[in-house]
Amino acid sequence: MTRTIIHSRRRDELKEWASTWALIVTIDGPAGAGKSTVAKLLASRLGYLYLDSGALYRALAWKVRAAGVDPADQRTVGSLLATTSVAMEPSSDRARLLVDGQDIGEQIRTPEISRIASVVSGYPEVREWLLPVQRQVGASGGIVAEGRDLGTKVFPEAQVKFFLDADVHIRAQRRHREAAAAGQAGELEQTQRDIQVRDTRDRARIQAPLLAAPDACVIDTSRMSVEAVVEDMVARIATKL
Ligand code: C5P
Repeated sequence: MTRTIIHSRRRDELKEWASTWALIVTIDGPAGAGKSTVAKLLASRLGYLYLDSGALYRALAWKVRAAGVDPADQRTVGSLLATTSVAMEPSSDRARLLVDGQDIGEQIRTPEISRIASVVSGYPEVREWLLPVQRQVGASGGIVAEGRDLGTKVFPEAQVKFFLDADVHIRAQRRHREAAAAGQAGELEQTQRDIQVRDTRDRARIQAPLLAAPDACVIDTSRMSVEAVVEDMVARIATKL
């Protein structure tokens, strides 16, 4: 069957099999490695839901900002959790993100929210608080989940795990282009510095640091097109079906 799926490239056949198996597919990696773009396309190829876990950390960051709390004040951020609700209604590409029942849409895609999310995601109580939200989305399988610790901590039982990486300069260029397209163009050098600071924090934290799960397939996307990465993933997933 594996051969048939790869060689025929019949998308409906792949979807049918993917639906029967309802896999959990995780994609971890640093900022700008191409995780979101690839995860959305892969979810749509498989007919799966797409879980953007970074959006949940960004949602909390949005609340921290709206409440006027200093992100570096761990105790106050921690106490904010008791009065905050974050929910995600996922789909195969764009999810609705609700904070205290309010749809906050694209307000989370700013450099300031990126910086706040990077700080608060280092707090163990924040990570514990968001664990059940993520696990509930993946409870029935049939999901492509993307972030930093999906294969190691959130879904260690996932049947297929990927870790995407790329040269830091290329990652900065990608983020810079995305920001420019969203009308938020800044300095490329600043974007690269921001990415490096976030990576260092993600890799150094004690709880659920950014690292490839031992059973993850590592893909360096520096010189690969988005389509090539997705094809590679589909071929690897087909071997599991
Ligand atoms: O992926 P994205 O850039 O949207 O994530 C925002 C921030 O949330 C990251 O810089 C990272 O610090 C944090 N994050 C995390 N664990 C995840 C997803 C995101 O710590 N699973």
